[in-house]
Amino acid sequence: MTLAAGVDIGSLTAKAVIVDAANTEVLASLVQPTGWQPARAGAEVLARALQQATVERTDLDKVVATGYGRVSLADADERLTEISCLARGIHHLLPEVRTAIDIGGQDSKIITLDEAGNAGDFALNDRCAAGTGRFLEVMARALGIEISNLGKLSLKADQPARFSSVCTVFAESELVGMLAVGESRENIAAGLSGVIAHQIAVLLGQVRLQPPVALVGGVAQNRGVCVALEKLLEMPMHVPDQPQTVCALGAALWAMETMQKGRSDGES
Ligand code: ADP
Repeated sequence: MTLAAGVDIGSLTAKAVIVDAANTEVLASLVQPTGWQPARAGAEVLARALQQATVERTDLDKVVATGYGRVSLADADERLTEISCLARGIHHLLPEVRTAIDIGGQDSKIITLDEAGNAGDFALNDRCAAGTGRFLEVMARALGIEISNLGKLSLKADQPARFSSVCTVFAESELVGMLAVGESRENIAAGLSGVIAHQIAVLLGQVRLQPPVALVGGVAQNRGVCVALEKLLEMPMHVPDQPQTVCALGAALWAMETMQKGRSDGES
């Protein structure tokens, strides 16, 4: 059996995927918080994935690391950018997709893809928490709800609240003010989804948007954001089953392919 692993060490979560190189079956797929030690989180999530797949580290033929913390994974055979891994992962899951929007913990990125799955244009926001998962986490805390419930709550809104600022600090103050005057948490949650959608639409201005469009990353699990984007862009968002592990899957697939082709094009 030939096995390959992809480890994506993001700013908020570390992900690991193990694939069987023979038939690209996913044997393990895991997510855990990165915390303050990316190297440790990467090693831990890989160890847990090995347990889930009931294999040993020595059974892995190749490990590819990606994500902002990829340099910290000492165990990696190769390192690859998130853009390349995102392209590889999404093309495998949804080959018809031509634009992928990845909204993570502290950044959001957009890539376009050609028919062969090669990345074309890309746009990145890693300067500001607005339009990222961090923004939603701060707001969920202020609303006293779990991040996993924010999307569901937002779908029950009758009139989405209007935020005048997309800045996390100002928007949090605005949110507190809205609660004080009796605005419903549902309407506030929908307003927050709208803020994310607006920020993504701004970023989309930097690429040639081509449908079909996929939404991935941890925030793709937030149905409210997905619906807000669909309304704003007037097109459906395709969300794969496990949107948070798409880049880790792409890294594992890259590992497998380069092993099979006996070549290595990634950065190291
Ligand atoms: P990164 O790769 O940048 O570390 P992720 O892609 O893992 O980040 O995304 C993390 C974000 O995903 C969190 O900030 C949060 O907003 C969102 N998120 C995580 N879990 C859930 C969930 N169960 N439901 C909705 N949103 C979630």
